[in-house]
Amino acid sequence: MAKGKLIFDMDRCKGCGLCVAACPLKILDLNNKVVNVKGYNPVYEKITDKCVACGSCAIMCPDSVIGVEKIV
Ligand code: SF4
Ligand code: SF4
Repeated sequence: MAKGKLIFDMDRCKGCGLCVAACPLKILDLNNKVVNVKGYNPVYEKITDKCVACGSCAIMCPDSVIGVEKIV
């Protein structure tokens, strides 16, 4: 199965949580220890090394915050 590398444009994130809900593996969460330039808790990869590069989170994000790279 493919593995994914996630890249976040963190300062664009508005903390809406749509990506968190979209991930079938529940990898993502909002980081309540960080506040970005917009004043929101941004998304982060809570569980590392589990992403399968399905792209659901990136498709769901209305602000194009998430990039998913397939690692072969
Ligand atoms: S690409 Fe898929 S598995 Fe990886 S974090 Fe996004 S929704 Fe989850
Ligand atoms: S990355 Fe996008 S979908 Fe996820 S919380 Fe931030 S703005 Fe919402």
